[in-house]
Amino acid sequence: MDTPGNLFIIAAPSGAGKSSLVKALLELDGHLAVSISHTTRAPRGQEQHGREYWFVDEPEFRAMAGRGDFFEWAEVHGNLYGTSRAAIEARLQAGEDVVLEIDFQGALQIKQLFGHAVLIFILPPSWAELEQRLRRRGEDANGAIGQRMANAREEVAQARHFDFVVVNAVFETALFDLKTIVHAQRLKYSAQQRSKAAVFKALDLL
Ligand code: GDP
Ligand code: ADP
Ligand code: 5GP
Repeated sequence: MDTPGNLFIIAAPSGAGKSSLVKALLELDGHLAVSISHTTRAPRGQEQHGREYWFVDEPEFRAMAGRGDFFEWAEVHGNLYGTSRAAIEARLQAGEDVVLEIDFQGALQIKQLFGHAVLIFILPPSWAELEQRLRRRGEDANGAIGQRMANAREEVAQARHFDFVVVNAVFETALFDLKTIVHAQRLKYSAQQRSKAAVFKALDLL
């Protein structure tokens, strides 16, 4: 699917800092919006329905999937997560850029649909640091942290399929790297052909 807006897909093992980085990126860049996924996971402490996620039960999620409401969906850590068409299609068509914070399975599915999607993988600086961040965040029970660490190894092995990698050691450096990737994508010839179609037409480039 070809759209005037750019689509950025950010994946990372849980605890690598994906949500913190994306939140900071959005505060700096008014032309980016994050797509709010649907999930069957229970909300964590401060999470609100419609802000971090649309929280739905499994029958509702499966009904949506059956109706074809999702661009992609996947099971992650035993819960279902999906990106709804409604969340991104209109925005991309209107020429706005969208960020998806989704797992690698979803990222690879979306790449099939949106060939121009930019796949960015966030890596932790080490396994030990990843585990420490998960514990410090304090949102997951001990068992859940074990499962997230086990899944992290599987996720990290997928980084090679991505266009870009950001190692989140020093937060500000990683944020700067992310900004640079977004900026470079917007400067690509093909992206500007879509976003600045009028200029390209006037210059007989379209
Ligand atoms: P986190 O990993 O600590 O941020 O915990 P979450 O429960 O918020 O997310 C668990 C995993 O599901 C992460 O790898 C997310 O990237 C992934 N995820 C979130 N939303 C979606 C979605 O819409 N589709 C897919 N495929 N994965 C998602
Ligand atoms: P994710 O969304 O990938 O699961 P979070 O954004 O929730 O990760 O980050 C996990 C924890 O690590 C949070 O407590 C966050 O404040 C912390 N964190 C994120 N980036 C860094 C960093 N560069 N250095 C130290 N701690 C970090
Ligand atoms: P842009 O996102 O447009 O590429 O850059 C944003 C701003 O960050 C520019 O003013 C650029 O000069 C500045 N900048 C360049 N290098 C660095 C760096 O290493 N760290 C930080 N924090 N900013 C930088």
